[in-house]
Amino acid sequence: MIRRAIYPGSFDPVTNGHLDIIERAAGLFDELIVAVAKNIGKDPMFSLEERMEMLRETCRDKKNVRVDSFDGLTVRFAKAHDAQVIIRGLRAVSDFEYEFEMALMNRRLDENIEMVFMMTNAEYSYLRASIVKEIADFGGPVAGLVPPIAEEYLKRKLRAARND
Ligand code: ADP
Repeated sequence: MIRRAIYPGSFDPVTNGHLDIIERAAGLFDELIVAVAKNIGKDPMFSLEERMEMLRETCRDKKNVRVDSFDGLTVRFAKAHDAQVIIRGLRAVSDFEYEFEMALMNRRLDENIEMVFMMTNAEYSYLRASIVKEIADFGGPVAGLVPPIAEEYLKRKLRAARND
């Protein structure tokens, strides 16, 4: 049996914290599908296509990782792709409560799908996409926080916003 996991998120944009989880998860499973949420409540900075493109570029050399998008229930996407596991990253205690609720609800929706939580790398425990966007917005340096392609996309987006 192929062990397949999905790693869902908004990836607006992909950060080095996400990448760290992707790399470690890819080492644990035969296949990893990075699943980009189509609708993310919070006003997204990047379109679905842009978010996927950044991930595709970043994961190009990872042979068992592919990037896809989804809408609706994560467990349904997992089931439709024959994935047995949903990966989530945990940064701090503050992530726990939400993730705990989601995990219990997901199990209720589909008891055959297991949620697996991976601890952040200490280096990235403070890193979230919203902070990266704030720093970039104020002209601060984001090198080292996001992969180079996301840095480029952020610069381009902010340049375009300034010229509006
Ligand atoms: P963010 O919280 O950065 O906006 P997402 O909503 O796209 O990211 O989150 C997708 C998944 O990645 C979630 O499980 C989240 O906890 C995890 N994640 C995000 N940033 C990190 C990080 N720095 N370290 C570990 N996991 C992370």
